[in-house]
This record gives sequence, structure tokens and C-alpha cells, in this order.
Amino acid sequence: MDYVGYVIRPPSEAYSMIIQVTVGCSHNMCTFCGTYKGQKFRIKDMATIKKDIDEASRYRFDRVFLADGDVLILPTATLLEIIDYIHKKCRGVERIGVYANTKAILKKSVEELKELRDAGIGILYQGIESGNQEVLRRIRKGAFPRHMTEAAARVRESGILLSQTVLLGIGGVDMSRAHAEDTGKLLGEMSPDFASALTVMLLPNTELYRDWQAGTFRLPDKFGLLEELKIIIENMEVKNQCLFTSNHASNYLPLRAVLPDQKSEIVGLIEQVLEKRDERLLKPEHMRAL
Ligand code: SF4
Repeated sequence: MDYVGYVIRPPSEAYSMIIQVTVGCSHNMCTFCGTYKGQKFRIKDMATIKKDIDEASRYRFDRVFLADGDVLILPTATLLEIIDYIHKKCRGVERIGVYANTKAILKKSVEELKELRDAGIGILYQGIESGNQEVLRRIRKGAFPRHMTEAAARVRESGILLSQTVLLGIGGVDMSRAHAEDTGKLLGEMSPDFASALTVMLLPNTELYRDWQAGTFRLPDKFGLLEELKIIIENMEVKNQCLFTSNHASNYLPLRAVLPDQKSEIVGLIEQVLEKRDERLLKPEHMRAL
């Protein structure tokens, strides 16, 4: 397979066939993200993509994840050509997933999203990071809550599953509470099918790391991060069922709960850990990863 650079995928796509159709991320400005630093965004040529699909067709799989960072930014016609070729060559593919930043979603109409759903796109992964306007400005996410809400509404209307991620600690110590409260509220308003919390990891090739070194960004401690997790869930007033997880490798406390049904249960569990303040209940530092 023609994998270029650092290819990532969401945890839930661990068993999917990964086909890289773009290299890098079209935004590539988030201050905390080091994944594609130095990598110029480009769409791979169709011949290379099809060659990879031919190669993938030798294996059995039912899910495909199209990498890299922001595949929904591709023109709809290009995406449809890729999906069509996947279905032609690979029997039994039930779902195709892609990362989609807010700007990319807003470039598509509901009709285009429906066309992609009918062709086989079953899930979009949208990075939210925070529901707080000021935090989003600081981290240069390139989108604010009003854009995210509009994008989420379009995806929901199209019938494609929506999975959103938020980032514990990204507001720093000074914005910790506001970040957590606003993030929980925004997630509730958007009510995705899946929501996951990840935890900031300070990567040396990022602007956030340099801010941390300069002392202008301070990361909450482990229990401060857990407090954020609790506040986010407390503030999530979802309109429909949402599977909330914090099982990403970056987190100190892996959790999984269906909201709203298990809300009090999961909040109670976090409170117990917060009361004990026993680090042995948390994932050891050396086991954390991106
Ligand atoms: S977090 Fe996502 S949108 Fe931001 S630079 Fe990284 S890949 Fe691109």
C-alpha cells in the first residue's frame, strides 16, 4: 500500500482497511496538533488510489477508512469515484468512514452529503476540541461553535453517523472550567451519535508545546483533567442517544457510557476517583499515547 507519512485513524476504525487518499490536512493550523506538521496537503492521484484499492481487494474486510486528516474536503465527484471503485473491487464493504473538519462539512450541501451516504459513506469523524469560543480562537481550530452546530445539523440531516471528539486540557488551567462547561453544552446541542474525549499530549513540534515551555500555557493536572471530563458529561443534555467514550490511549481514565441513560452512573464513577485522588486508579503515564 502506498502509505505516505504518519497515517492515523480513529480507535473505532482499528479493524478497517485504511486507504490513504490524501496526504496531510487541508487546515494544518491547530496549535496542539503535530500529526502533519511539515507535510503539505495534497490529494493523491487517482491511479495511485485505485492501485491501493486493487491491492486491498485481496483481503476480506467490511469497513474502510479513507485517510488522511480531512478527506471530506475532496470534491464530491472525486469521493464518489473512489467509493464506486471500492464497491466494484471489494465485496462486502458495509461502511466507509472519513475525518471531516467543520469547514469541509460546510462546503457540502445536505444533498451532497446524502449522495455520499447513499454511495457508502457511513460515518464522519469531526474534531470539535472545545465548545468555548476563546479556546477555539487560541488553538486556531478554524471554526467556532456556530459553525460546528451548523455542520453537525447538516450531517444529521443527511443520515450519516456523526462521531465528534473533544480535548481535555486544551483550555489550560485558566480556561479549564469554561472549556469543560461550554464543551458539554455544545455536545449536548449537537447530539452526535458518538462523542469521545481525548487528552492533550504536548508534542515538541507544536506551538502549544512552545507555549507550555514559555509558561504561557499550563496543563491541568491529572485530576483537573478528570474534573473536566465530569463537567463535560454533566453539561451534555443530549437530544438522542449518544455513546460517550474516553477510551483513547491519551486518557487517564477509560470510560464508556450511553447517554443520557448512564449519565448519573458515569458521573458518580468519576466522582469516586476524584474523591480518592489515588493515582493508581489512573492509567500510568508510560501507557499513554496518541
Ligand atoms: S487537529 Fe485535525 S484539523 Fe487540526 S491540524 Fe490536526 S488534523 Fe488538521
